[in-house]
Amino acid sequence: MVETGTGGAHDSANNTVTRNGNGSGGPRLIVLSNRAPVRVVRERGREHMEHTVGGVGSTFLRLLEDHGGVWIAWSGSRKAPDRLQLPAHDPRFSLVFAPLSDRDTANYYYGMCNRGLWPLMHYMIPNCHFSSEYWSQYQSVNRLFAELTAAEAQAGDLIWIQDFHLALVPQLLHEKRPELPIGIFWHVPFPPEQLFRIFPWRSELLYGMLGSDLIGFHTNTYVKHFLDCCERILGLHVDRQAGEVMVEHRRVRVGAFPLGIPADHFATLAASERVHERADRIRRALRSQIVVLGVDRLDYTKGILERLAGFERFLENNPEYHRRVALVLIAVPSRTKLADYATLKRQLDEQVGRVVGRFSSEGWVPIRYLYTQFNLEELIAYYQAADIALLTPLRDGMNLVAKEFVAAHLGDDAVLILSEFAGAAEELKEALLVNPYDIDALARSLRQAIEMDPGEKATRLRAMRAKINLNNLQHWSESFLNTLSGVSSSRIPQLSGAAAR
Ligand code: UDP
Repeated sequence: MVETGTGGAHDSANNTVTRNGNGSGGPRLIVLSNRAPVRVVRERGREHMEHTVGGVGSTFLRLLEDHGGVWIAWSGSRKAPDRLQLPAHDPRFSLVFAPLSDRDTANYYYGMCNRGLWPLMHYMIPNCHFSSEYWSQYQSVNRLFAELTAAEAQAGDLIWIQDFHLALVPQLLHEKRPELPIGIFWHVPFPPEQLFRIFPWRSELLYGMLGSDLIGFHTNTYVKHFLDCCERILGLHVDRQAGEVMVEHRRVRVGAFPLGIPADHFATLAASERVHERADRIRRALRSQIVVLGVDRLDYTKGILERLAGFERFLENNPEYHRRVALVLIAVPSRTKLADYATLKRQLDEQVGRVVGRFSSEGWVPIRYLYTQFNLEELIAYYQAADIALLTPLRDGMNLVAKEFVAAHLGDDAVLILSEFAGAAEELKEALLVNPYDIDALARSLRQAIEMDPGEKATRLRAMRAKINLNNLQHWSESFLNTLSGVSSSRIPQLSGAAAR
């Protein structure tokens, strides 16, 4: 929990500069994201702030504490102050809230971002809803973020923009402050050119992103798709070897920076007595010899219905495993105000009910369906209680749950079944990779996982854990910032040597 800051905009900004300046030896950082790392909570007539961030957000908090600077984001509510100084007990950076109106929330956030760009980026054309109202509000919110950033940024700052909500900010900011080094990381997939083409504002979106010096994606596949779009839709010169696009006289660097998890933190929690005890309790309550786990936000990109169909096919084809297997389905409520999500929830409820009704027998229920969100410790206990993770996104930028499941199994005694359409599949090749649209293949992979011998399980898990430890979250942020520093120092001499620490 943090307290609200009191200083006016300019006082606060000056405080930050004096307090941190470039005293840390590296450049200040300006982070932009749609959602802020804190939210305003009202309890018994009083307001206070609560932290909302998971692993990735915590990394930005730490980076900003080290470097000083500013985080610019939407508070998610209309009650937020203009800015806070964080951490409250020893301010080291400012959090500036972008004030969004109800109209912005409806058209920019729920509209363009969640009903337009989210399905487009995940190749889900039937779920795409485009409207010029959404687009014009998206433009105006992006302008607002660019203006706030231009007002906050000092010479030498590094600007790091997060995700598809703010795709136009790089160009808008570059026009105002061409000297600033700008990076954007795209946390979702990027679709093939033929799919991206359907977007009515395709050129504007691409040029918006190309205001950056560095554009990062999770995988080489998404890099390739983006470069194809620049070449074929915009007609720009692309150097695939160097990962560069020429925009007028500027070179824009495009690269893969696979997002990692805080592997040490996971290992510490996974080794803790409390987590072991909780995992034992979960296991005992399930009273099942084999536990299969699925964990996702309840989103149509996650292939949850396909996973259930695969499990049902497995039960049909393998009666000898009845009474011995349980599927634990953790579905985190998400975007519940949107019709597509409400429909999916209804379908899932019905399908779970049908499979449970069809296969349950006295003393055995094949599915435990948990429509809730767990904290990290509880979630790791569920990871540990499971023998098999069945993660079947139809398309996913990365899928951190896959990496977290591997990190939680220090005993090397589990199997990861992973959709080949998750970004994580490009790294975790030792998982059992499946096509989630192939229901028979899902059923077969479950049997293969159950019957895999312990030696093979251990070999696969160790190989995956080694990669997860190496390409952890810190490595991700350092390599992005180092590349941004390097790319921009080649055009701005005074930044050279300013590496992210
Ligand atoms: N998560 C959580 N509690 C839950 C389920 C999931 O905190 O009950 C977290 C999980 O640890 C992971 C994140 O939610 O870090 C999901 O990330 P992922 O990349 O798998 O999917 P996304 O939701 O970002 O599409």
